Amino acid sequence: MDVSEPIAALSALYHGVLRKEEPMARHTSFRLGGPCDLYLEPESLDDLRIAVAFLTQQGVPLTVVGDGTNLLVRDGGIQGTVLSLGTMDSAIEEDRQKNSVFLTVPAGVKTQHLCRFAAVKGLLGLNFATGIPGTVGGALAMNAGTDIGAFGDIIESLMVIDPVGTVRTVSRDEIDIAYRHLAIDGKTRKDEGFPIIFSARLRLKAGDRETLMTQRESLLCRRKSSQPVGLASAGCYFKNPPAGPPAGQLIDSLGLKGEAEGGAQVSELHANYLVNTGKATTAEVLMLAARIKERVQQTHGIQLEEEVTLVGRET
Ligand SMILES: Cc1cc2nc3c(=O)[nH]c(=O)nc-3n(C[C@H](O)[C@H](O)[C@H](O)COP(=O)(O)OP(=O)(O)OC[C@H]3O[C@@H](n4cnc5c(N)ncnc54)[C@H](O)[C@@H]3O)c2cc1C
Repeated sequence: MDVSEPIAALSALYHGVLRKEEPMARHTSFRLGGPCDLYLEPESLDDLRIAVAFLTQQGVPLTVVGDGTNLLVRDGGIQGTVLSLGTMDSAIEEDRQKNSVFLTVPAGVKTQHLCRFAAVKGLLGLNFATGIPGTVGGALAMNAGTDIGAFGDIIESLMVIDPVGTVRTVSRDEIDIAYRHLAIDGKTRKDEGFPIIFSARLRLKAGDRETLMTQRESLLCRRKSSQPVGLASAGCYFKNPPAGPPAGQLIDSLGLKGEAEGGAQVSELHANYLVNTGKATTAEVLMLAARIKERVQQTHGIQLEEEVTLVGRET
């Protein structure tokens, strides 16, 4: 897509990073994905609103990303603009009311920074997310979580920006929340028109700092010993089915640990992690995932569903 004209006009209004033909492999933890036509890292809320309103008006498609730790970008790259909030970090605000402590957290804040911030302050409710990489915006958009909790449990409200650049607050009872699912106005992160999450108000409680810090250490140790955290991946590839064993156990039971397609491989440590051994393509990851789904369906009669978010144009 030729974005020269929009770039020239946008440059006059907008102050953040703006690059053409940016390889998405640089912005995903899978280290995969072809280039997007235009890549933006807005500096501020104003920058973000200006860019969103302008590009929507120009008919340039928008894809929002945080740190790209749940993203699988096709080899053909992404048509239109990628808007990254991963560098738009700013301060977390705290206010207390009766038994609750509210944190207002900008979407670009790293989830790990937020978890540590809460534990150090003795605030209960965020330790479930210890070790989840990425930004708070990405974690909210997919209701990220673990076996002991998820972001949906603590959302009080979200501040969002719709495609014409209007900012509004969405309260908890207007948000549809389920396992790895969050919908606003009936739209999820996989639908066109899903609003951009700019910040969240989260409800926590006062807790005991020492207990929270000890729990953090043990959660981090458990993660390091059971997941290939140092390898290029997007975390768990499939969602756990609503009933029966978790996806990793189903895949492991078929002896698929180590199974490979080109440079894409089922992790030897955790069978629900597909890893890029260094020279994979997205096409290879997709072929490996399709083979796993077919084998699980044939043997267990269970249809696995992807947890990773697949984006981009087909070549
Ligand atoms: C080693 C490893 C371990 C992981 N462990 C876990 C885990 O335990 N639990 C878990 O749930 N996940 C896990 N993940 C997956 C991932 O880290 C989380 O889902 C994370 O919260 C995604 O955040 P992100 O900023 O990287 O989002 P991205 O990958 O950049 O985006 C994810 C989705 O959210 C959308 N999005 C991002 N920001 C916004 C925004 N501001 N507004 C609207 N939409 C937005 C994107 O369009 C995309 O659809 C793991 C990943 C890795 C690599």
